[in-house]
Amino acid sequence: MNLIALEDYFGPFWNHGEDTPETRAAATQLLVAVNRALEAAIADGVVLILNPKTGSYVSGEGNGGFRGRASPVGPPGSKHRSAHAIDIYDPLRLFACWCLRNEARLRELGIAGMERPEWTPTWTHLQDLPVRSGTWCFVPSDTPPLAAALPEQDRAA
Ligand SMILES: [Zn+2]
Repeated sequence: MNLIALEDYFGPFWNHGEDTPETRAAATQLLVAVNRALEAAIADGVVLILNPKTGSYVSGEGNGGFRGRASPVGPPGSKHRSAHAIDIYDPLRLFACWCLRNEARLRELGIAGMERPEWTPTWTHLQDLPVRSGTWCFVPSDTPPLAAALPEQDRAA
């Protein structure tokens, strides 16, 4: 079962020249881990919602998966641009809470990092490459947080 297909991940960048063999291979590997994580979350009772804007579990309006050169969203060095990151539509924060409770399982699946939920108010960012600091649940930018911490984070702190 592929909850998120390669076409969903590339979105508007599918078949536009930047879904090269390299980015397709990277995305395929990322999606194996992400789809297993989503299946595990569903099995644990997490309710996932399809994003009406993308028709899939990918967040945003075309920049939640792969970001090509023309994408105005996020920094140039973003892992989205090398097909190593994805934003999952998560307006109820149920998946984010599940991820925080299941870091060990996610690491085992190959998810090497998650952005801190205070900076991702309606989505959950996962990536299969670690950040330089090695922190699993990391602060993604110097900008002020956009949302309050989740109860799972307070418990861990
Ligand atoms: Zn992201």
